[in-house]
Parts: sequence; C-alpha cells; structure tokens
Amino acid sequence: MDKKAKGVNTICTHIGELEDKTFKGAISPLYMSTSYDYEDVDIKRYPRYFNTPNQEALCRKIAALEHTEAALIFGSGMAAVSTALLAFLNKGDHLVVPRQIYGGAYNLIVEEFPKYGIEYTFIDSTERSAFENAIQSNTRVLYLETPSNPLLTLTDLEAIGSLGRSRGLKTLIDNTFASPVNQNPADYGIDIMIHSATKYMGGHSDICAGAVAGSHENIDRVFQLAKNLGGSLSDYTVWLLERSLKTMGIRVRAQNENALKLANFLNQHPDIEKVYYPGLESHPNHDIAKAQMHGFGGMLSFELSESLDQHRFMRSLQWIKVSMSLAGVESTLLSPTQTSHALLSPEERLKAGIRDGLIRFSTGIEDFEDLKADLTQALLRSKTLSKESVT
Ligand code: PLP
Repeated sequence: MDKKAKGVNTICTHIGELEDKTFKGAISPLYMSTSYDYEDVDIKRYPRYFNTPNQEALCRKIAALEHTEAALIFGSGMAAVSTALLAFLNKGDHLVVPRQIYGGAYNLIVEEFPKYGIEYTFIDSTERSAFENAIQSNTRVLYLETPSNPLLTLTDLEAIGSLGRSRGLKTLIDNTFASPVNQNPADYGIDIMIHSATKYMGGHSDICAGAVAGSHENIDRVFQLAKNLGGSLSDYTVWLLERSLKTMGIRVRAQNENALKLANFLNQHPDIEKVYYPGLESHPNHDIAKAQMHGFGGMLSFELSESLDQHRFMRSLQWIKVSMSLAGVESTLLSPTQTSHALLSPEERLKAGIRDGLIRFSTGIEDFEDLKADLTQALLRSKTLSKESVT
C-alpha cells in the first residue's frame, strides 16, 4: 500500500508515528531515555542533539504538515524564533521585518540583536515594495508574520518568496496564527516556517513548544546553532505534542468555521465598531487570504463601540475566558492594550492601529450558538451597566 499521506488529517494522524514493535500498541511508544549507547550505532542520540526517537518522529510529522523536507522541535516558540533568526544572521548582517509582529519577536530584535552587531529595519507596511525599499547591501533575511497579531494583516507570500529568491535572501515566516492546516508558505517559496507550537499545534493550552521547518540544508544550519543554544523539548512533551497534532486538522477546521460565523455575527452587531477577520469580504487583504490560505483561521479582532464598558464586557462572559494565550479548544479573548501591547505608549498603539477598545478573540471549538449567546448577553450587560454607572 502507498503510505504517502496526502490529506492533512491523515498526516496529522499517521505520519511520524513510532511503531511499537514489542507490544504492537496502536500509538507511538515514549522513549524517555536521555542516554544512548554510542558504539556500533548510526546516530549518536541525545535530547539536546534533537535526535531522540520521539523527537525525530515528531519532526517528520511537522515537516510533512509544512510540505518541507525537515523540521526541528524546540522548548518554546521563542526558542524556535531566536534560533532560526540567529542561524541566518551574522555580525554586520541586516534584517527586514514588519513592525506588526509578535511582541516577543520584536523584543528579541530590539533588545538582543544590537549586542550581536545585527542591524534591522522595521517597515510599517507588508507590501512587497516596503520590503524591497528596505533591502540594503548587507540584508540577509526577510522576516514576516501573516496573519499578524492582533489586526490580522496579511502579507502576500508569493510576492515576498519571489523577492527573497531574486535577491538571494532567506525568507522566514512565523506561521503560528494560520497553522499548517490553513497555510503552507513553503508552497509559495518561503524558506523557513516557524511556529509557536504552544498554540494550534498543541491546541489544548497545556504544552509550551516551538517548531522550525524547511529544507534539509536550511534545517541543518538551524540545527548547528540549536545544539549549542540548547533549546530542545523534553520527550514527554514531544510525545504529548504528537498526540495533540493528531486532532489539529479537525480542531483548526472547527475553529475556522466558528470564527467565520462569529466575524459575520459581530460585523452586523450595532455595538461593534469594527471587525478584523481575513475571511470577511470587507477585510482589505481578503483576496490575498483567498489566494494563499486554505481556511481563514480561528483568530479575529473587534472593537467595541465607545458606549460599552470593555472590562465589564470581558468579565460578563460565561463560557469565553479572558486569557493571555490563544489557539486552545476553548474560546478566549484579551485586550491587546492591557497585555501584548501594554508597553507601547497610547500614541504608538494608535500608530499601529490598536485602539483601546480592541479585543483579540481566539475561537475555540464550542458550538457556535453558545458562543453567540455568550457574546450577546455580555454585550448587553456591559451596555446596560455602563449606562447605569454614569447615572
Ligand atoms: N509567535 C507568535 C505569533 C506568538 O503568538 C507567540 C506567543 O504568543 C510566539 C511566537 C512565541 O511562542 P512561545 O510563547 O511558545 O514562546
């Protein structure tokens, strides 16, 4: 039988499984050993060399999901981001990166890169021309994140992939928000895919991990630095992540479906000023989303009208949780002003398009009608209460 899996659910379920030859169990056995014989073996195995049996197997699943030859698993998304970027940047090199990226990656660049003599230019647009205009003679990397956090702005993958190739630059993407279910940037010529596997890959808000995927050559370059920096993931969590990935396809598709329905519902609600979701026809990048995404994703943002009390709205929710992270099976939301973008001044936030009433929503897999009812009652309560509070 041809075991080359094509469908994302088949890849999620079967690729990278370890066979239980001893007991013929249905799932991968877990090898917790941190010490292996080194004589008469093909591979000298050690967890920090990213090559224990469970680590290698999970890497095969992630590579298959991202349509690449190879992958590496890390102890966090930021371990993956930092190792991947530093693998392709040396002292004196330059990086082009949109300002609208995950705050941790932004901090890594501004706080750490100057120490290593790495230069960078932040661009305020995700257009190809903005990347192109910022390229210098010492530029080595174009870094992108699409959809971006929290306004779900998209970057045209084909445009940046071809720009990178034509100028001999490595293109790196943080593909966390889309997940490999909704977007495969390798198909558009992007070199390195990075994930906070803490999000959709883990999917249950109980695993902290990261992943990098790319060609054998590029992943070997990341590995040469990774083994020195030491950000590997413990085998128990690797095993849990493999289990979680088995349901990623069905989870993410259910989240896509809920998010689209919620975006349409909120878009028509009189107490909502604005909805940001790539699946809405009114989204400025809707055409790009249709061209390069298989699904529009589970993340959306919206602004409450000024007559509502945001805090009361958030605390009136019954099923939907106020929570820092994202992409779990449970719906969660947060205020970027109070969390991810709290360190920016109000002027800087406004410049980045982030109003105080903005709420970032991570859609779970609950029944849509229950989510709609929860949002409806919370909107009503925050409106009534805020009116009462001023009288
Ligand atoms: N990239 C994105 C888009 C994120 O949202 C996050 C975390 O929120 C990260 C990277 C960092 O991942 P981790 O928290 O697993 O280190």
